[in-house]
Amino acid sequence: MRILVAEDENTSRSVICEVLESDGHEVTGAASGEEALESFRRSPFPLVLTDVAMQRMTGLDLLAEIKLISPDAIVVVMTSHASLDSVTTALRSGAYDYITKPFEDLDAVMDVVGRATEKIRLAETNDRLLRELQAKTLELERLNSALSDMANKDGLTGLFNHRFFRELLEREISRQKRHGRPLSLVMIDIDHFKRFNDSFGHLAGDAALRRVGRILQSGCRASSVAARYGGEEFAILLPETVKEGAVVLAERIRTTVEETRFPGSGPEDAGALTLSCGVAAFGEDGSEATTLLRAADAALYRAKACGRNTTCAASGEATSGDSVP
Ligand code: GH3
Ligand code: MG
Ligand code: MG
Ligand code: MG
Repeated sequence: MRILVAEDENTSRSVICEVLESDGHEVTGAASGEEALESFRRSPFPLVLTDVAMQRMTGLDLLAEIKLISPDAIVVVMTSHASLDSVTTALRSGAYDYITKPFEDLDAVMDVVGRATEKIRLAETNDRLLRELQAKTLELERLNSALSDMANKDGLTGLFNHRFFRELLEREISRQKRHGRPLSLVMIDIDHFKRFNDSFGHLAGDAALRRVGRILQSGCRASSVAARYGGEEFAILLPETVKEGAVVLAERIRTTVEETRFPGSGPEDAGALTLSCGVAAFGEDGSEATTLLRAADAALYRAKACGRNTTCAASGEATSGDSVP
């Protein structure tokens, strides 16, 4: 341990320094308070032994300066039997312990130093353990969030998965029931996706599903939630949105997909994809998760029946699309 010894009496200083060095410590001696403070300022010591009665800067002055620089430094004061009242002052000012002079028994000195170094080592170990714990906590948080992503998200598209979406739908519906706010649901199915796979292969099909996922994600408002509902089927839940608003959003996504070229199997070829969308609104088309899903599904099947590449609203007519009859 690095120890600073401030003592203006040469003999006492030599004795202390020697006994501490022989105990394996790295000791710096200072013949005055000023010299000790200068050494401490250059590089703080974890442990300082200081005589109280010194010319100009006393041990108490040095103690105060050291505590200002590093409050955790341990300071042990050395004082003669005659001036024990200064011990009280020193202890009140943050000194760790005291040693009385003359040193009749050097074991007593070693005992105090031993306790002080033990305290310092414990504090260092504590700091290290705390840092390790903080690092482990961060790692645990990262793993937890990765785990929750794995449980709630679809591995291919990164959108929420079917299970998460169904839970969310139940939660949102009971919330809408309490607050009477609008809520809409869009079900989306890629048209003739089997053909795309057959033409370009499943890897190109996977890439196309990811691309459609990104289009859905960027077409949604922050409050909306897009999910991969099944193989080439997607769903979007739109809180605070009436059916007309949901139709507008579905149409925006449908036309974006229609205008997108999806890379095929080689660098040259690309395929086109279209979507069929069914829209239903909480309240008018269903007031439970199952009825709302059924209404959106029925609308989606109507879009398919109308020739695909179309958005249909539940109980409404096909709103648009190239092949609407
Ligand atoms: P429709 O317009 O009637 O919906 O025709 P479709 O071909 O899209 O529908 P169908 O249900 O006949 O086929 C769905 C296709 O989606 C077949 C299946 O291989 C493909 N598919 C489902 N999941 C994945 C996937 O993760 N990756 C790839 N590449 N294809 C998938
Ligand atoms: Mg002195
Ligand atoms: Mg399908
Ligand atoms: Mg399909």
